[in-house]
Amino acid sequence: MRVNDVTMPRALIFDMDGTLTEPLLDFPHIKADLGIGDRPILEAIAEMSDAERQRADAILHDHEDRAARDSTLNAGCKELLSWIESRKIRWGIVTRNSARCAKIVLAQHAIELETLVTRDDGLFKPHPAPLLLACERMDVLPNDAWMIGDGQYDVEAGLAAGIPTVWISHGRDRFFDAMPWKTVRDLPELHELLRSLTV
Ligand SMILES: [Mg+2]
Repeated sequence: MRVNDVTMPRALIFDMDGTLTEPLLDFPHIKADLGIGDRPILEAIAEMSDAERQRADAILHDHEDRAARDSTLNAGCKELLSWIESRKIRWGIVTRNSARCAKIVLAQHAIELETLVTRDDGLFKPHPAPLLLACERMDVLPNDAWMIGDGQYDVEAGLAAGIPTVWISHGRDRFFDAMPWKTVRDLPELHELLRSLTV
């Protein structure tokens, strides 16, 4: 189906934290506990010695587990996911969080999905590999999927993977250089966009 040159995606790949859920993690607090200044968390941990990394992983898991148990879905999330399923569009999540954290969030909100790619699968956003892995698992070409996320890494990873990427702005001005394919304010606006393609 084609409306204004936009075709219905065969699959949707969502970021989790801040996209499907309200922001889960208190990044400044985690960074302070890890003692890594303002560096990106996973990249800083990857460069640590084995002993340092073990300690850092434990701190991060502790934050993630607590945040996952307290998680709240963003407005319109359940409605959007039910609609996606009713339309038989495949969907999955690609997150920099751990599989453990993601599974707690999903179980807590009774969300079932086929495709979950986490940092435990290896490379993480902004690397395009986890997005391409999700496409492979959903059996779609990158160009037939949309990436949807609220963060800079989502847009950078989507661009690098050749996947049309929708940035959820939550009303913020864009604070990074990577240019999303489309910008929507929130999940209800994304839902509206998708519905407009089905007529
Ligand atoms: Mg996010």
